[in-house]
Amino acid sequence: MDLFDSNNAERANLPRNMIENSMFEEEPDVVDLAKDSNTFPTFPTLDPDEAAYEPRSSRLLVRGLGENDMDDDEEDCESSARLLGMSFMNRSSSHRSSSSPYVRQSPPRSCSRPSARTMIVCVFVLVIAALLTMVLYFLPGCTFTKAGCPPPNSTNGELFPWAELRLPRSIKPLSYDLTFTPDLDRMTFTGKAAIKMSVLHNTNRIVLHAANLNITKATFKLDNGQASDVKVLENIHQQQIAVKFPEELKTNQQCVLTFEYNANLSHSYDGFYNSSYIDKLGNKRVLAATQFEPLSARKAFPCFDEPSFKATFLIKINRKPSYMSLSNMPKARTTPLSSGLEQDEFEKTNVNMSTYLVAFVVANFTSVSSSASGTQVSVYSVPDKTEQTSFALDTASKLLQFYNEFFEIEYPLKKLDLVAIPDFLAGAMENWGLITFRETTLLLDKNSSSLEKQVVASVIAHELAHQWFGNLVTMSWWNDLWLNEGFATYMEYMSLQEILPSLDTGNLFLTVRFRALDKDALNSSHPVSTEVNTPEQIEEMFDSVSYEKGASILLMLNVSLPKEQQFKKGIIHYLNSFRGSNTETMDLWNSLMQVSTPLRNISEMMSSWTSQKGFPLVTLSRKGDMATFSQEPFLLTSDNTTKAPRRWNIPITLVNDSCSLAPECRQMFSLSEKSVSLKVPESVKWIKLNYKNTGFYVVDYGQDGWNAIHDALSENISVLTAEDRASVIHNTFALSRLGRVPFEQVCYMLSFMPNETETAPVTEALLQLNSIYRLLDKRQESDLASRMKTYILSQFGSLMESQTWKEEQSLSKQELRSALVSTACALNNDGCVEKAKSLFKNYTESNYTNKIPGDLQQAVFAVAAQSEDSWKALLTLYATTTNDAQKRKMLKGLASSQDPRHIAWILKAGLNGDIIQTQELPLIINTVCHGFAGYLFAWDFIQVNWDRLIEKFPLGSFAIQTIVKSTTSQFSTQAHLDQVQAFFSSLKQRGSQMRSVQEALETIRLNKRWMENNLQAMRKFL
Ligand SMILES: [Zn+2]
Repeated sequence: MDLFDSNNAERANLPRNMIENSMFEEEPDVVDLAKDSNTFPTFPTLDPDEAAYEPRSSRLLVRGLGENDMDDDEEDCESSARLLGMSFMNRSSSHRSSSSPYVRQSPPRSCSRPSARTMIVCVFVLVIAALLTMVLYFLPGCTFTKAGCPPPNSTNGELFPWAELRLPRSIKPLSYDLTFTPDLDRMTFTGKAAIKMSVLHNTNRIVLHAANLNITKATFKLDNGQASDVKVLENIHQQQIAVKFPEELKTNQQCVLTFEYNANLSHSYDGFYNSSYIDKLGNKRVLAATQFEPLSARKAFPCFDEPSFKATFLIKINRKPSYMSLSNMPKARTTPLSSGLEQDEFEKTNVNMSTYLVAFVVANFTSVSSSASGTQVSVYSVPDKTEQTSFALDTASKLLQFYNEFFEIEYPLKKLDLVAIPDFLAGAMENWGLITFRETTLLLDKNSSSLEKQVVASVIAHELAHQWFGNLVTMSWWNDLWLNEGFATYMEYMSLQEILPSLDTGNLFLTVRFRALDKDALNSSHPVSTEVNTPEQIEEMFDSVSYEKGASILLMLNVSLPKEQQFKKGIIHYLNSFRGSNTETMDLWNSLMQVSTPLRNISEMMSSWTSQKGFPLVTLSRKGDMATFSQEPFLLTSDNTTKAPRRWNIPITLVNDSCSLAPECRQMFSLSEKSVSLKVPESVKWIKLNYKNTGFYVVDYGQDGWNAIHDALSENISVLTAEDRASVIHNTFALSRLGRVPFEQVCYMLSFMPNETETAPVTEALLQLNSIYRLLDKRQESDLASRMKTYILSQFGSLMESQTWKEEQSLSKQELRSALVSTACALNNDGCVEKAKSLFKNYTESNYTNKIPGDLQQAVFAVAAQSEDSWKALLTLYATTTNDAQKRKMLKGLASSQDPRHIAWILKAGLNGDIIQTQELPLIINTVCHGFAGYLFAWDFIQVNWDRLIEKFPLGSFAIQTIVKSTTSQFSTQAHLDQVQAFFSSLKQRGSQMRSVQEALETIRLNKRWMENNLQAMRKFL
């Protein structure tokens, strides 16, 4: 899946016409609770039932009531114990007000100054509680999950025969025969699923997944016996159904379960969902499409919905003659039915496939096709956009050929369809043979800019790589999602650098590696490969650690292998060894080790990067002719959860003043100990580590080392590659956030910027400085914000002014210009604003024939949106434009308005989904939050509409992660921290435990700390 990150909305100018108080008038529900739970802020208050339900909780409850004897390691337990204690006491004294949970945090009064009698009573109560706890704790078969103990009831009241979230391993599905009859008028569908299975171990029950399906009939057939009706039990909470048998099914028996059912087409973006669009004649058209990854195949048909249960699929779709349908496989035949419908039957899959890769679409699409390496490649879109498909067709064909040759394994299906779906939340989804996309990530018209081509090509490259990484070889469980996503992300950049070098994806990859470092620096991050169980935890795996950190460590490994092509040989070996089956991370390292010459312990090296969160800070210190390299975890906040010292096996690369640019200059050694000393002649003036930032670590050179690099760059900026200069900038800011480098040192290091003309260093510096500007602005440090603005304009002013506003061919120069112009206009630079206004005027007055260069559109629309008339013109244009990439830029422009009425309108419109599709809401919120006028509006908006948001976007999903991050990441005060904490605590199971919430709180604390540490210095140096 491609997440389609929408976090790069540009800034708008920020009039101070809003007062920051309206949002704070209401007293949050659980203020005191939030204040008292600083150490573990996101743990929710639990319902009384939950406290009684879960044995582990009960154990904690007893300890929490009694004393404070816990060590740091149990800090989380302590907090949960306190909260559980509250719930317990609340339950046992029901007359107390349940609306004041925080009063329950104090121990009961009767025990605080105990008399002998109360002591006895207290001890007695504690002993009883402890005994009860032990009974629950040691119940056979209990796990510490909520699902584990006691076994849950079915909807009909009978005991459901399975208590785990993961399915039992006693049954293996072999093939599915599925028939769907969607009714696009009523937005419902009926389904029939016949699942052939093999019994792996004797068992008297079959348990599988189903969600929101109304099963009307179920039959069971064992081996060659007769089919007979069976009763289906359902556990709604675990989205499971089960059939129990009086006699055991025996190993190696085969059986068929058949279900008939009906359901509503989903109104969100997962499962079998409905979508609509308005065609150019103004008619509303409807369609239905699927999105099953990670857990939604069960919403379309009963199935074993885990990636390791691979099977074959035969799919039939009954549709009205006016529609067409598509599925993973080519269509075998179409048969008219007596009902007036037609049945499309697709060939049975010739590969075993995980359920999350099944897909089908019922719509009115048109297509263009060509043949590439013997495979029929087609691009489908709504009829009005057929002419926008040629770039995608051409690129997909090239990439298919590239991957066929690179992996030395032919793409195994006869056809490959790429389909642009009008309503689609992710960037794209790699369903085998039927890749679905947003329109923006697949369609381009003849006026599209190279930057837009870069987006489309990257997403296609990512999804095509999945046809091998993910589809052919699949991770066994979602804990290793990075095997899919890290690889596809890495291959996306690698393949495009080979076949479309003009798209300059190198810079893009460098930027995403920087952002992955920033995210992984937080204590709330997680190991690349990490245990997940609940649906929310699985959704949260779709984040930049699985994608970008995964890709970064693969790059690091590839460049550190001693021989050319060794990485490639290793992954070919891996794909061949496991084709058609499932793997874990270790399988990949073992495959790479088997082709490694000389033999290297790749597994040991890479495990240090996948099994622990975070990354190392490498410090270089020189004394005489000795250079000492040492490592420690890069920790922005103290990490109490890890006791063992964290070490990484780091392939250190370095260059120095005698040779620093060509790849041959690079020296390399492995740092696996805490520190190592090497001889370096004193004549070496400076050393730069992490050549081209291909390693996943940050470097501190110490005061002298930084000064030496600064002096070298001041003398001649070209002594380092552009990637290395960008890395110097990124690392300086990272160290500043860590508290190791004071603000004046940051400014000192940036003093070479006025001579800088390359894209990577300029965009990185702008991003970092803009984020400080926004923090100051939102803190209402108006004077400092204005001085920061002057500083940015002085550093980059001449480069900004040297930009032309005409069509620019080089993509790298477009990226540079786009970043510079967007910043200048957002900071209200007069020259920039005037030019943008005149371009927009020209554009509208010429009836949109005087085009605005693609890379400048965003900045121009954002300026235009600041005046009432142009905002309305832009909105009209938005409603009529068919180029989706351009539409998104207009939308970002509209959301950049600083008029509160516009902001309120656009947020509401995004949620309602009539004029603006709800899939764009994360983008709207992100853009609104950049501006001064909108960020409190947006924060208020998500609090008021939280339940509607999580109806549309699953908890933990990338959309929700984006929304949480966008609305909170610019806060830097205690008041905001308290408010954010209180809101998310109050959500309980509706989101309080999401990792993105922990990340948000940690980010606010870090912002606050950075501001407090650097405000003085900024007053002095800006
Ligand atoms: Zn993906």
